[in-house]
Amino acid sequence: MGLFDKFKSLLFGKGDVSEGTQDEKPVASKQDEPVSAMHKSPVNEAKPADMKVEQKPIIQKPKEEKPVADKITVGHVHMSGCTGCLVSLADNYEGLLTILDKYADLVYCLTLADVRHIPKMDVALVEGSVCLNDECSMEEILETRENATIVVALGGCACYGNTTRFCRGGQQNQPQHEAFLPIGDLIKVDVYIPACAPTPQQIRNVCLMAYLLLKGNDEQKALATAYLTPLMNLAAAGTEACGCDLMTEVINQGLCCGCGSCAAACTVRAVTMQYGKPQIERDLCIKCGACYAQCPRSFFSFDVCGQYESITNLIGEVMKP
Ligand code: SF4
Ligand code: SF4
Ligand code: SF4
Repeated sequence: MGLFDKFKSLLFGKGDVSEGTQDEKPVASKQDEPVSAMHKSPVNEAKPADMKVEQKPIIQKPKEEKPVADKITVGHVHMSGCTGCLVSLADNYEGLLTILDKYADLVYCLTLADVRHIPKMDVALVEGSVCLNDECSMEEILETRENATIVVALGGCACYGNTTRFCRGGQQNQPQHEAFLPIGDLIKVDVYIPACAPTPQQIRNVCLMAYLLLKGNDEQKALATAYLTPLMNLAAAGTEACGCDLMTEVINQGLCCGCGSCAAACTVRAVTMQYGKPQIERDLCIKCGACYAQCPRSFFSFDVCGQYESITNLIGEVMKP
């Protein structure tokens, strides 16, 4: 390259300032290549339509086996009561969730299910007595019997009238509501869960046993029948209860062990323990049946005692979350 050429290249930046002929093409670096050229490859030359997309196998998750189809339907029918029985049902906490998840659909409940008319159901838990001044209550209790396979009187008010029928002072009825009857005086009741309020475990066990009675295998049905029989007998015995039941059926039978559960259960303190045995003030008694229901000797049933372990194991098994 002559001096002129070198000067020209310095001025205009063209050409090669190195020694050598102009015909020689510089070795192209990758940076110099157009982008399109850099990405040219046999794979990319293929048209989108020709490209094969690798198909990942769709893994079908096995459907979770839920015994939904085998659930029973349960409703809580609220007559004239204080809602304490419903609170006791809710006090099962996770146990209640297990029941609702696996065994029972709650199809009617004034506070928990938005259903206006009493639907068909397997088990109706009826809380409270029936106000005779309220036409709507009268219709509802008859409708409940018509629509439910098993009617359970839940708590002392439904079983015997309890405070709504007998209270003297303390918890007052609404002035316009004067006359109350236990549900057993108006409809046939299948199972009683007395006490004010029944314990959460009692309510839970009755719901489970109703499920096993309706959906269980033969062995489970037999255990459920053994468990429910004393409560069915109580329902068949009628709507009268009194602290004196303890006297005739427990103390006079030599069954009282002096545990004091009856005195602890009596909400109006009609039962006191005297010399290790219950003493009952009949004038104070509001006929709730709680003392009898809570007495560990009142439901003395050879069927239940003989199968106590099997029944306990069964409850433990089905209540596993
Ligand atoms: S039985 Fe007792 S807890 Fe249940 S509704 Fe009657 S007063 Fe309330
Ligand atoms: S003695 Fe007390 S617990 Fe027993 S039925 Fe009468 S009020 Fe209820
Ligand atoms: S609960 Fe039954 S066994 Fe216990 S003291 Fe009362 S009557 Fe006796």
